[in-house]
Amino acid sequence: MGKYDYPKINYTAQKVLVEKCDVTFPVNILELISLFSNINISTYKEFNETIALSLGKRAEQISDEAFSAKVSNDSYIVFYNDDTSLKIPQRIRFTLGHELGHILLGHFNNYEGFLPRNGFGVVDSELESEADIFSSEILCPTCLTSTEWSQEFVEKLFDVSGSVAKYTIRTKKQYPWIKAHYAFQNYFSAIKSKPHKNFFDESARNEDDYNSWYKIVANYYYHFCRDCKSFEINIDSKLIFCGICGSDNLEVVNRNNYFQFHETDEQEVKFFPRGDDNEMNYRVLELDSEGRLAQPCPKCGNEHPTGNFCSVCGSGIINKCTGHREEIDGNLTIFEPCELPLKGYERYCPDCGSNSTFLDNGFLPAWNVILPVELPF
Ligand SMILES: [Zn+2]
Ligand SMILES: [Zn+2]
Ligand SMILES: [Zn+2]
Ligand SMILES: [Zn+2]
Repeated sequence: MGKYDYPKINYTAQKVLVEKCDVTFPVNILELISLFSNINISTYKEFNETIALSLGKRAEQISDEAFSAKVSNDSYIVFYNDDTSLKIPQRIRFTLGHELGHILLGHFNNYEGFLPRNGFGVVDSELESEADIFSSEILCPTCLTSTEWSQEFVEKLFDVSGSVAKYTIRTKKQYPWIKAHYAFQNYFSAIKSKPHKNFFDESARNEDDYNSWYKIVANYYYHFCRDCKSFEINIDSKLIFCGICGSDNLEVVNRNNYFQFHETDEQEVKFFPRGDDNEMNYRVLELDSEGRLAQPCPKCGNEHPTGNFCSVCGSGIINKCTGHREEIDGNLTIFEPCELPLKGYERYCPDCGSNSTFLDNGFLPAWNVILPVELPF
């Protein structure tokens, strides 16, 4: 099997999977590396704002992807480029696995200082290949893969790029007898997985389609609410308050922080307000282009509400900002209500945080109220 020490690479990768993540996939690579007390991890941005100034060299000049440094006897720091306008998240995941490989495979035994990824100064191509194999085995272990699986399935299951999935499938076809090391066989006997969520286009995983995905990301504002875990996409403006729970604890996601988001908060997303996600478990009302209810009145069942108020029960049928917000201390703040109609899921006005009329009149239950099974009106 070539010139590389496969048994050593596989053993090292499998040991990490057993000890650090209970062999559950897709591996959260940022979290996994953070579990090594002797490895620090830092972005290029952090490097360029600090070390680069005294070094006189920016991170990108050392390597365009990542590099590691031995800072003392057995302590390391990994710098990585998290810019998703240049690399898909799956490529960044692979690069981090590669750097971890250098450290754990002992490549620093004969090196001092920086070990750059992909060619700067003297790069040992054998060590580079070993680190690549390690990364592939930690993200997408050959011994767990089946020759029956499609490339797309492998990409999704392990959250890896098409090229890594292809490589693993090819290796498995060539060496179908590859098994987990006997010391770990119990841990590797069945695959444990929780598919990675990806609320951006699926093509984010596909290197060929990356440009079209990137254009979409550049034109929209993505918001993650750290309080209610909803994820909202807005076309033309940043939101100030969460339309679901009224919190201002919003994380605006863009290409600069998407990688961290993908590995952490995106996996926590519970609600997708547009209403086309199966996981969504709270009510979204259908509105027409003027913001008027376009479905039967949720209160009285009136089939065709028109105008501004339901002709049967008198409820306002346009979702609006009320101009009053309850503060944390329980006091009510009164505003001039904002003018534009709100969306069919907004319990709060995203501009000022006031209650919406649909929340106040009971059309929309509060986000944290568990709904009984919806009645078919
Ligand atoms: Zn390398
Ligand atoms: Zn919220
Ligand atoms: Zn009504
Ligand atoms: Zn408002």
